[in-house]
Amino acid sequence: VKLPVVTNTQVKTFRRCQREHHYAYRLGYRAVDSVEALRFGTLVHCGFESYWLRVSLEDTLALITSKAADEYEAAKARALIIGYFARWREVDDAGPLPVAVEAEFRAPLRNPETGAPSRTYQRGGKLDVLFADHYMEHKTTSEEIGVGSVYWKRLTLDAQISTYFEGASALGVDAQRCVYDVVRKPGLRPSQVPILDEHGCKIVLNANGERVRTAKGRFRETASAADGYVLQTRTETPEEYESRIIADIAENVNRYYQRGDVVRFESELEEAEFDVWHLTRSMRESELAGRYPRNPDACERYGRTCVYFDVCCGTASLDDASRFERVENVHQELSQVA
Ligand code: SF4
Repeated sequence: VKLPVVTNTQVKTFRRCQREHHYAYRLGYRAVDSVEALRFGTLVHCGFESYWLRVSLEDTLALITSKAADEYEAAKARALIIGYFARWREVDDAGPLPVAVEAEFRAPLRNPETGAPSRTYQRGGKLDVLFADHYMEHKTTSEEIGVGSVYWKRLTLDAQISTYFEGASALGVDAQRCVYDVVRKPGLRPSQVPILDEHGCKIVLNANGERVRTAKGRFRETASAADGYVLQTRTETPEEYESRIIADIAENVNRYYQRGDVVRFESELEEAEFDVWHLTRSMRESELAGRYPRNPDACERYGRTCVYFDVCCGTASLDDASRFERVENVHQELSQVA
């Protein structure tokens, strides 16, 4: 019998809010518009996968362009991937070859007390890159990722890493360490740039829409709020935006790309095992009881509102097809449910 799969994302969702878990994992409702940040992360992830599958930079960029929601999103993702190739290609060419890329696993969920496998669930997940003695996980974040940053400290609490050691083992690899490959998302947004005339001069207009001249008779190129002189601007093109991000990355490579080893001690692995075991027990209990408590403390997170907020408030319905769709495979990151 194939047991239902539990993933780390699912356990995290349950820990955050049981109602959210119920909507997303038991009923399978997902927001139609995936939030911008999540979408961008997925897009860049495609680039990483291509990188490890040794697809050329050119083809990787074409893939990203074809999957992006708009030209600016594509430009941002392309810039990040161009930087990634420049930062790591030589290093990785000199290193070991991966055994597998995007390797899915299933592993028993064990009671850490007795070692007996659960008869309710099995574990499932996907390792981004698996090597003969370690694995690598890609992450994109908006946070500071420098050495000693909070981001790196938090990783030691992350149960995901522990689960994935088990996953590697299920795939026949005795992983000694996990390498976190972290990429910081560019904070730069498309900006306004001056419109230039045929001579390359900026255009400044007065309140009557006429071009302003300086005392020397030249065209004025600076705005003046006091005089009502307005510099004429336009939004930069996706190409200009991409070049600007690439230039910023080139100047601050270490702010954008970091890798670090995360080694787990036996005691940490055990604690993470208990965390997951007890959370999945509660998951089962809530299912049997048919009760899914809401957690209002989790409705706002990372500056975003939970996608089910209006449903919980009673002002929207999960059956509203313009907002939610029902998915068959609740583990969208995996190819099959079991
Ligand atoms: S809106 Fe709040 S209570 Fe409702 S599912 Fe989301 S996190 Fe839970």
